[in-house]
Amino acid sequence: MPTDDIQVVWEVSDTADFVTIATRGQERATAENGHSVHAIATLPAGSGFYRFRVGQYVSPVGITRAAPSGEVPEVRFAAASCQNYQNGYYAAHRDIADRAPDFMLWLGDYIYEGAGAEAADPAARVHLGPEPTTVEEYRNRYARYKSDLNLQAAHAVCPWFVIWDDHEVENNYAGITPQTVAESSEFAERRFAAYRAWWEHQPVRLPPPIGPDSEYRIYRQASWGDLLNVALLDGRQYRSDQACGDIVLSLDPPCAESADPTRTMLGDAQEQWLLDTLTKSTSQWNVVGNQVVLANATLNGAILNYDQWDGYPVAREQLLGSVHTANVPNLIVITGDIHLAAVGYLTNEGAAVGVEFVTTSVSSSGLIAAEFEEVLRGIPDLVDAELAHRGYSFHTVTPEQWLAEYRIVADASLPDSEVSTYAEYRVDSGSSTVVSGV
Ligand code: FE
Ligand code: CA
Repeated sequence: MPTDDIQVVWEVSDTADFVTIATRGQERATAENGHSVHAIATLPAGSGFYRFRVGQYVSPVGITRAAPSGEVPEVRFAAASCQNYQNGYYAAHRDIADRAPDFMLWLGDYIYEGAGAEAADPAARVHLGPEPTTVEEYRNRYARYKSDLNLQAAHAVCPWFVIWDDHEVENNYAGITPQTVAESSEFAERRFAAYRAWWEHQPVRLPPPIGPDSEYRIYRQASWGDLLNVALLDGRQYRSDQACGDIVLSLDPPCAESADPTRTMLGDAQEQWLLDTLTKSTSQWNVVGNQVVLANATLNGAILNYDQWDGYPVAREQLLGSVHTANVPNLIVITGDIHLAAVGYLTNEGAAVGVEFVTTSVSSSGLIAAEFEEVLRGIPDLVDAELAHRGYSFHTVTPEQWLAEYRIVADASLPDSEVSTYAEYRVDSGSSTVVSGV
């Protein structure tokens, strides 16, 4: 891109042909901000079409909508995460665009930071360049991902709520601790560059991050009329480092460090904010957009994955205990990260206090072999698990019931792969019981 600033006009219309313009404005796309613009349009109720213009050039048309207020009879939304460009195509996004949800809930791992792979197949999709550490390198990575037409279609079809997970910066980072301790001294600068590129490239109503030594707050609340109270979490920026060297798939008893009561997942301020958001809510359903699996997925006491809430057991006990005591009604947690589909109960002192829907990856390769499906299904707090497919989850919510449909991609190596329904799960209002196969 040139270093000049560029004036961008945005327009909103009630119709896709833009014969009449409902509202318009201008933003300056500056080189400093990677030529991104964050235009905030005041929309009438309902959906609207939008586009951008620079000189004679006109962008494709997108659809957005203002979050409704008051009584809402139904909402339909998609939840998705983990779209490693090198691992496969985005048939899941094509299916999301076809279904035209009211909104998308993006749970993280929008980009992956790995260096470009040497692909044996010349037609395979690969990252370009080294592992990003500078803002220019992260920008280029976002540009690569956003060149995908199915991803563009999913963005154009509805507004997105976006949170991040680890790969927007680096695998399994924790606060300002990088994966490789030797890189600690440069990590705050690297994380700032990654956060900055994230802000530039995501449709978020947030100010940019201000510096490597400052908090960048992205946890926030949204409402969808009286139907949904949505809490969007940040499970990376404030967490304690993973215990016991972040081992995975160990069947040994948990190491002592994991039970240290000072260890945190969300940090004190965010945890208090989350409890306030949940306990003050008057919405029918309380929804949490969450990074890593919250349900107890330990196997005979062993922590299979120290990066998940299982590796932060005291913090989880405190959170779910508070939710239990406060009697937070109709709690639904939606989670990504782990590249498998699962449904679980969130329990405290033997009682279910909520339900967790874990959405599988859009394209990122599975981390656990499909032959372990039965083992995962046998974990007491898990209702179901599907390990063999990529996909996403689709949620249809009314005041009376929550319906989660798990969509799976037949073959993620094909952009036009068939996408079908693996299973549906229902939760009735006032109940924390999952009914499968509805
Ligand atoms: Fe991932
Ligand atoms: Ca992740």
